Amino acid sequence: MRYKIYPTKSQLAMLEAWNILHCRLYNACLEQRITMYRGRGVSVGYYNAQQNELPALKAEFPEYKALGSQALQETVRRVDRAYQAFFTRVKRGDKAGFPRFKSARNYVGFCYPAKAGWKFESGANGKHGKLTLSNLGTLKVRGVPRQWGEMRQLTLSKHAGEWYAIITIRCEVKRPSGTFQAGIDLGTEHVLSLSDGTQIENPRFLKTSSKKLARLQRELSRRTRFGVNYNRTKGKIARLHARIARQREDFQHQLTSSLVATYGILATEELNIKNMTANGGAYKKGLNRSILDVGMSGILQKLEYKVKETSTGRLWWVPTRKVKPSQTCPVCGHQHKKLLSERIHLCGNCGYTGNRDVVAAQVMLGWALENYGQELACGDGMGVLARPSEPRNPDYSEA
Ligand SMILES: [Zn+2]
Repeated sequence: MRYKIYPTKSQLAMLEAWNILHCRLYNACLEQRITMYRGRGVSVGYYNAQQNELPALKAEFPEYKALGSQALQETVRRVDRAYQAFFTRVKRGDKAGFPRFKSARNYVGFCYPAKAGWKFESGANGKHGKLTLSNLGTLKVRGVPRQWGEMRQLTLSKHAGEWYAIITIRCEVKRPSGTFQAGIDLGTEHVLSLSDGTQIENPRFLKTSSKKLARLQRELSRRTRFGVNYNRTKGKIARLHARIARQREDFQHQLTSSLVATYGILATEELNIKNMTANGGAYKKGLNRSILDVGMSGILQKLEYKVKETSTGRLWWVPTRKVKPSQTCPVCGHQHKKLLSERIHLCGNCGYTGNRDVVAAQVMLGWALENYGQELACGDGMGVLARPSEPRNPDYSEA
């Protein structure tokens, strides 16, 4: 659960100072590993060396004492994890990217991995509250979790100049699943089209923000580089980017939650993982393109884990290369290649007509039911699902 922190001026100064100390520790650990390796071919592991040096560090630099042993250990472990991730990438043959030194100004924050060093007192079910950090004080935080449970760890994270408290909760996730069924076609004109005819528009905020961003970028190009106004505009751009990211997250969460609450069976296309990287893959180059992007991979990932949180819901991946949803008639199975500009499906064989994307969603649902229908009927306590006579439109309120 992520809460926004509202620190006082002096608390903010302390958070920033602590963050810089954590960053220096991170960079020092990284540097030590590199020099040890270069000098003697020794690879410094986390457990065999760096953690044991923390008491000596605190003796020499007493300013580290206030930060808490476990939080410091966690930062050391972070370096270790960056190394492990690097080795994994090397092994897999991906573009490796050696762990980098971090800049103190943009350091991401720090983490208390257990319940020591902090205390959180909230309203009912974790709503808002007071977060007390040892040696720092009590911070005001705001946020409303969907579910509440036993608190496990706390991460203080800094993003675009704002501080957040992320509290990890242990709880049994309760998510009811809907009883309707739908195929989902992901598109560019609509975020998605469902087999029951529902189509979700691209959210407006992306367009508004992209215009605003373009204006700020023109403004930036007029400024003297690294001057006061330049930095001010630069900060505005960073905050806008962060805002867009938050809005996109919200949109994806609302959309996928609503889908899972309405439908018990969903079928959609299997996206190529290579195209689902953070930067959107090669086909999504260009700034505005990435801003306007609603984040297909984010939608599918959220959809998948939310369906898993229900005990009865199912999400089927349809191999679109084999099934060809955009070229197949859902009624008679006749295949006919459509141009991208053809927005209507008109079957030359049986005469069935419909919106191209909706029809594609119908093909996917049909394929899933045909291939997995048996499991649906007999397995996993799923029971037989009735096809609704009238599709119910879920409530897709915009973020
Ligand atoms: Zn047909």
